Amino acid sequence: MEIHSEMSVRNGRGWRIRVRVFMALAVTLALSALTLTSSRAEAGDSDRLILISLDGVRTQEIFLGLDEELLMKSNEGKKKEDVELYRRFHGSTPEESRAKLMPFLWNEWIPGHGAILGNRHRENGVPMKLVNRRRFSYPGYAEILTGSAHDAEITSNDKIQNPFPTVMDYLRQQWELSDTGIAAFSSWDVIPFIVSREAGSIFTNGGFQHYQSEDPRIRVIDEAQFEQPTPWDSVRHDFTTFSFAMDFLKKNQPRALYLSLGETDDWAHMDRYDMVLDSLYRTDKYLRQLWNFLQSSPFYRNRTTVILCTDHGRGDNIYNWSSHNSLLPGAEFVWMAAFGPGIKHRGEWDPQEPATQSQIAATLCATAGLDITKFIPGASGPVKGLISSD
Ligand SMILES: [Zn+2]
Repeated sequence: MEIHSEMSVRNGRGWRIRVRVFMALAVTLALSALTLTSSRAEAGDSDRLILISLDGVRTQEIFLGLDEELLMKSNEGKKKEDVELYRRFHGSTPEESRAKLMPFLWNEWIPGHGAILGNRHRENGVPMKLVNRRRFSYPGYAEILTGSAHDAEITSNDKIQNPFPTVMDYLRQQWELSDTGIAAFSSWDVIPFIVSREAGSIFTNGGFQHYQSEDPRIRVIDEAQFEQPTPWDSVRHDFTTFSFAMDFLKKNQPRALYLSLGETDDWAHMDRYDMVLDSLYRTDKYLRQLWNFLQSSPFYRNRTTVILCTDHGRGDNIYNWSSHNSLLPGAEFVWMAAFGPGIKHRGEWDPQEPATQSQIAATLCATAGLDITKFIPGASGPVKGLISSD
């Protein structure tokens, strides 16, 4: 408006010029608003973050799909073609099999929206590894969430409050998030102890724990977790955890969410390869549901970055695949996938140097323009070449 009056005074040619100048100004403003909007969308705002972990999922199943030898071990004497899971997940190539096992991940999510790394099974494939040498869950989740390994301090899966600050602590503080602005949902009841250094500072719901909701469907699922227990004391079914997390997401629109699914590891420990496969297939459905919701929500659409990862690998052959520990070869190999505007859409990709699990926290933060080392000095940096602003 100031420009308008200055121009009209200087030209002194009455209302016609004033209207023309005003129109030109309006058009300029509208155009620059348009340019701003589109360049923001192209640059990729990423200011909502979701971390998802699947417990103990091997690179074999993620990148190669069905391990036929392993499946047939528990179906001795049968013809492959008579085994239902063989018919469902067999492919003539690893690419075909993995896409049958996790169709959303391989056919839609990775090609359309993100990148995956850690395929050590292909020629010149660059592995992704744990830094911690313990190779079981608490040390793995601590490495994911704190950005480094703590082998001397974290020595068990006991329910001990994490003594180290986490990426969740950082996001809560940095973004000044309210009680519902950040949350963690987990199938395993130890996760609530790992997500934060300070007990109760972040909303968590994990293991067999009640979840309050107005939604009658969710209330039934809440009741069912106690009526239909899992084969385990400390891990509820992932469907329960996922349903609660979705309910929370829809109602509270947190800017940061951690979803920790656990069944895959527990079925593996029971030597139930069939159930591991089925869990992965169901998990893929949950991932599709979650992404579709995010893309349908004005709050999350085109500004939410998701990182998907695992806490440890497992044994490499049909005799030791069900286990994982510091001495077992294969348990040190992990993988990671990332999606959304904060990520370069590279598809299946090998970084120049092997990535480590300790880089997940920094990578997640970097997609939102945050540097975790300002909060956790000594934390590993982000994976180079993966962040869209790199
Ligand atoms: Zn395990």
